[in-house]
Amino acid sequence: MVDECLFCRIAAREIPSTEIYSDDEFYAFLDIQPAAPKHILVIPRRHVARICDLTAADAGLAGKLILTANKVAAQEGLQETGFRMVINCGEGAGQLVFHVHLHLLGGRAMGWPPG
Ligand code: 5GP
Ligand code: ZN
Repeated sequence: MVDECLFCRIAAREIPSTEIYSDDEFYAFLDIQPAAPKHILVIPRRHVARICDLTAADAGLAGKLILTANKVAAQEGLQETGFRMVINCGEGAGQLVFHVHLHLLGGRAMGWPPG
């Protein structure tokens, strides 16, 4: 837990959020500024700043992040209609919170290419 990290504090429930899913390693909650009718953030409880900071030792975390997002997508009924997973890495990609998070977006048609 990194005290000054917003998402560490959300996962620890020090800062309120709308919980969608929780287990020992991951936490999922509604994005405060939704970009789609369903916009869920899936985060590892362990603090890692950027997805590109993961190493081979983190293969389990990386894989389970995707599997957890799949589980949440199924739970939220997104598998039938389709959904998008997005991970922004670095300021140039629009990363604002430096604790790894996967955006799970659904409930509307998605355009391509993304902005
Ligand atoms: P990023 O731009 O870093 O990929 O995504 C950060 C996301 O976190 C944004 O979509 C933003 O709306 C969301 N966010 C920022 N602060 C909060 C907060 O305090 N609570 C919640 N639930 N979401 C937040
Ligand atoms: Zn953190």
